[in-house]
Amino acid sequence: MSDDVATRLVAVRTRVADAARAAGRDPDGVALLLAVKTVDVPRVREAIAAGGTLLGHNRAQELAATEPGIDDLAHESHFIGRLQSNKAGVVARAVRCVQTVHDLALAQRLQRVAGEAGLAVMVQVNTSGEDSKSGVAPAAAADLAAAVADLPGLTLRGFMTIGAHSPDLGAVRASYEALAQVRDDVVGSGYPGTAHARELSMGMSGDLETAVAAGATMVRVGSAVFGSRPG
Ligand SMILES: *Cc1c(COP(=O)(O)O)cnc(C)c1O
Repeated sequence: MSDDVATRLVAVRTRVADAARAAGRDPDGVALLLAVKTVDVPRVREAIAAGGTLLGHNRAQELAATEPGIDDLAHESHFIGRLQSNKAGVVARAVRCVQTVHDLALAQRLQRVAGEAGLAVMVQVNTSGEDSKSGVAPAAAADLAAAVADLPGLTLRGFMTIGAHSPDLGAVRASYEALAQVRDDVVGSGYPGTAHARELSMGMSGDLETAVAAGATMVRVGSAVFGSRPG
């Protein structure tokens, strides 16, 4: 079968590695996170068994439904969707990292629900300026990152964005370069708690090469591994 999950996973890894080499980067410097929204448990298990152990969930409900079916398999889950504050507790307990912190209120809420266990987070930046996209404006991202880094219990790992939705690769590339610039500014600021916030979560099935060229350290891939989603 040419379209099973394991085969597609290999193909995506090859794309990532080729993109890294083309950019003069070490392929090991780009992690592959599998976006598993709408994917059923057997296929998520297939992906984990094939080595796709870093997972991204979009919805708290789906996360809660999926995790019990995969908790016997070593994996790491991140949250990559819009997080409603009433779901923060469920999500914080189930994932290693919430990538979609877009304001201080959500960060404070996550801090409270994570408690002593603590939680890794990324600041989501709206690098495209599209109204439909969540995230803090690039100009406000450094202040939010500093405020998040100040919260005991939360570890700022880096920054996440959803690229411009555009056939114009230049616009897509500009949004990814904007995220890298935010990261460089924050890490370079010397502000306490930001020195290790180097992660750049950006790039999806359709544009991962562009993201890797702009410095992505983690690409989030769904359809290229699991096929197109219903709806
Ligand atoms: C679905 C999703 C992805 C993956 O998108 P594909 O185009 O299927 O690869 C990446 N990031 C987020 C936040 C998503 O919701």
